[in-house]
Amino acid sequence: MRANLAKYGWARKQRDEIIARADKWAACDDERLRSLVIPPQVPRGYDVHNHGCPVHGTEIFRKGLYSWIIDFDRPFKVKCPIGGEEYPSNDFAAFLATGMKDRSRLSGDYADDGWGWHKPGDETPANYWFVAYYAQWGMMNFLREAITSLSQAAILTENPARARAYAHKCALLLWQLAEYYPDYDYAKQSREGKEHNPNYQGKLYNYIWEVSTPNDCGPAYDVVRPFLAGDAELRKLAGKSAAEIDEEIRERLLMEAVRCITDGSGKIGGNYGRHQRALLTLALVLDEKRKHPTSEEMIQWVVENPSPRNPMEMGLRDALINLVYRDGLPRESLNYNLGWNQELTEVAEMLARFGVDFFKDSRFRKLLDWPFGVFVAGKFTPSLGDTGDMFSRGGQWTPQLYGKAFRYVPDARYAWVVAQDPALSQDLFSAPLDDRLNEFGSRPAPPIGLESTLFPAYGLANLQCGSEAIRVAATLSFSSHPSHKHADQLNLMLFAHDNALLTDIGYPEQTDAFNYRLFGYFTNTIAHNTVTVDAAGQGRGPGVLHAFSTHGFAQVADASCEGAYPGQVSLYRRANVLVQVTPDRSFVFDAFYVRGGSEHDYAVHGTQADFACEPGLGPPQETGSLAGPDVPYEQFYDDLHLKDKPLGSLSYTGYRGSGFQFLTNVERAPLSESALCTWRLTEPLKGQPDRPWKDIGLRAHLIGREEELIACDGPVQRYAQMPKSVKCLIRRRTGENLASRFVTVFEPYRGKPWIDRVSPVEIEPDDGNASAALVELADGSRQYVFHSLACERTYVLDGRVTVSGQAACLVLDPQGHPSKTMLLNGTKLASGKYSVKGRGIRRSRIKSLDYAKGIIEITDPVLGEDVRPGAVVLVKGNGFADSVTVRKIIDSTHFSIGDEDLRVAGGPVVVVCGNKIVTSVPNPNAGPGMTVLNSRLEPQGRLSKRAEHGWLVDRDTPLKPDDFPKADGDSSPRYYVVTAGPGDELQFPQCVTEE
Ligand SMILES: [Zn+2]
Ligand SMILES: [Zn+2]
Repeated sequence: MRANLAKYGWARKQRDEIIARADKWAACDDERLRSLVIPPQVPRGYDVHNHGCPVHGTEIFRKGLYSWIIDFDRPFKVKCPIGGEEYPSNDFAAFLATGMKDRSRLSGDYADDGWGWHKPGDETPANYWFVAYYAQWGMMNFLREAITSLSQAAILTENPARARAYAHKCALLLWQLAEYYPDYDYAKQSREGKEHNPNYQGKLYNYIWEVSTPNDCGPAYDVVRPFLAGDAELRKLAGKSAAEIDEEIRERLLMEAVRCITDGSGKIGGNYGRHQRALLTLALVLDEKRKHPTSEEMIQWVVENPSPRNPMEMGLRDALINLVYRDGLPRESLNYNLGWNQELTEVAEMLARFGVDFFKDSRFRKLLDWPFGVFVAGKFTPSLGDTGDMFSRGGQWTPQLYGKAFRYVPDARYAWVVAQDPALSQDLFSAPLDDRLNEFGSRPAPPIGLESTLFPAYGLANLQCGSEAIRVAATLSFSSHPSHKHADQLNLMLFAHDNALLTDIGYPEQTDAFNYRLFGYFTNTIAHNTVTVDAAGQGRGPGVLHAFSTHGFAQVADASCEGAYPGQVSLYRRANVLVQVTPDRSFVFDAFYVRGGSEHDYAVHGTQADFACEPGLGPPQETGSLAGPDVPYEQFYDDLHLKDKPLGSLSYTGYRGSGFQFLTNVERAPLSESALCTWRLTEPLKGQPDRPWKDIGLRAHLIGREEELIACDGPVQRYAQMPKSVKCLIRRRTGENLASRFVTVFEPYRGKPWIDRVSPVEIEPDDGNASAALVELADGSRQYVFHSLACERTYVLDGRVTVSGQAACLVLDPQGHPSKTMLLNGTKLASGKYSVKGRGIRRSRIKSLDYAKGIIEITDPVLGEDVRPGAVVLVKGNGFADSVTVRKIIDSTHFSIGDEDLRVAGGPVVVVCGNKIVTSVPNPNAGPGMTVLNSRLEPQGRLSKRAEHGWLVDRDTPLKPDDFPKADGDSSPRYYVVTAGPGDELQFPQCVTEE
């Protein structure tokens, strides 16, 4: 720290800012400063009311979430960000001074006794929680800042008298907090506990945000402790000796926090890693050797908790295997996954101080790397699930995070992130980074977000092409991640010309259960670029990859998710072919197959744009919404429980209806053969990211019969910078036991559109298993694009092109001569005298697998040069499906998968008996049929089914303890579950191209 201060301007700037903040709090006299700690009997609430302000309603959300204004000089008052009026009408501090008893003090039209004000005539039980909002945010904003800045200032100032003064003020706050801390109980003392969920745990704040208390108070205690003995003022005020004050802070505040994290009460427990980090901070500052849990036991709890009661208590070692997919992504939306990177990097950093190095762990490294792999078109992170907004700008990284990681892993990409804003990555209290960064400074920026990438376990396939000037990316999500999800399986997003053209709204306005727009629309299937079946939102099932081929000018992603509508559909599959015509012109061929149900609504959502359709649409429906002329906007018409209740008055988490009531301005036209829809981008509104827009657009060429075309307006988050709505295009098919194929060609353009026409193709036999389109360009060339569910079957297109394969693209020059071809997993592609032959899919089985070296041996000599590095091999297990990527072909029966991690689960072997493994951790990503390994990575059988506290294993002989030896350095024997094992079938793709 001293070295940073001596050497760097940014360090002195950070110091001056901290001291300025601390001075503001140090200027308060003790009595007033103590009032920052609001006593437990005053309820807390993180929002005032779901409907916003009593006068201005939801208009306040245009200022963002939690936008009420509070001021330490106006205790217990909240000010409306729209009208500037103040609530409540009474002086709550005066009422509090009477022990919250003298109700004659509850004066005025908006009186609040702490438990909220009820709007006269409002039939819902919800109150307006003015005082509670102040209590919560006053402590979150003011108390937290005071504790942190005062403690840091005490070590930053050069003046010993000032240091004592800062330390005294900080110790005063810690002691006051310790007095109250055991009595805080969020479930019984909050708006959320009273109105939403009586088990909503926490202390000052809800259990997630409560992690900040130990994170702030631990380091602050470490600073002020040496000053306690000299703090006569505090001793006098507290009426206690320095040792007693010290003990009170340790026991009633810090050890209380330790217990709230580790005792299963759930009172402190953030997203995974946050409470672990807090616990390590407490272990460090308490250095507790006597009382339980000791600091040693706290560290053990974090690394390898022997008896976790829930996944949030899992030790880091097990969490990396079980709560992070094998491709490095945790089980949440991308934005929430970034939280894992942040928290676990801090945990790893703390553990490194205790001599445990996770930065060398291969799964941890994959966790650090995923944000770069999901980045597309050099600018965007797909706004999937609760992530970002429709503009999808930026990466899931921060200079702070990668500045920390860079200290342990000198990766050029991390250096590049840090270089975006070096000041942000510098930490006043750590050793400076500059020298190591300078080593990277002279190198060219690493390419990030330009290549096609696949995350097979998370379920995300990104196809990318283009040039420096124009990048195009099509991302197909087949993820079944369980947390912060939307009902969005098989969502397609499209990025081109520096814009997100097919969008997802991303992070909703609000996240609580009473938010009807969230569950009604934003997270519902109809708000996504996928197919809604029978006017109901999707469930969620495992996604299955059928192809990911990135070789040549026409790349393919093909996936299915029948579990999205379990029991309703027999087929729910989407194939995308990204065809690069020239380096600056590419289109996406999209084939979506659905079988089952009686209504299919294929939807795509454009970005902020003017919309047009040929042939023209009928007049707008005058009343109602997409749900019908008689269903008004936002009415939950298709849910008996929610239908007649006032909006926002109950929980909407169970809603599985259509969400059609949120779509308005409905215009319709029949689709008899083909149609063309255009979104022309409009000028960015104030506050939106800077982006090109002039003459940029997206055209959707639709091919279909017996469809209804519907255009309507879909809502967007109510933020000032957002457009009111975006145009949603729906293709609707209805009928008994429907089988649909929706074929679309998406043409991003800048300047003039460049596709002349997209025509339907006659497919013979037309058995419903194949799709095709003829794309005719302005220069006279034509492209046949084809996809089939039945690779082995032969089809004839327009009577002139013969094809058998999974996907194909045939380019004919203006004279009609074939000029380029791509044939994936096929045997033949022919037109006239021209013919390309292939070997089709080759199948074999795994004979053996060297898990440590990543080498797979197969039973049949089918590997040749045509299986290229990067080829994605499908794994067809008995009961599960996955894929591995070829890094190198060694010989006809051996290939390498490099450092691909096949472990989907694992844990300590508590005991084996008969054919059962008993363990202490859950394995959410494991399933029957997968191979079990011991700690030496030797196969021991296959999982047959889940059992209480473990698994039943399929194998001829009973399991013996000797089968699961303890590895060196491990505290107990361990097992792993892998996604590929001896006997599993592999399908090797073949992509033949001629250019
Ligand atoms: Zn207002
Ligand atoms: Zn979404």
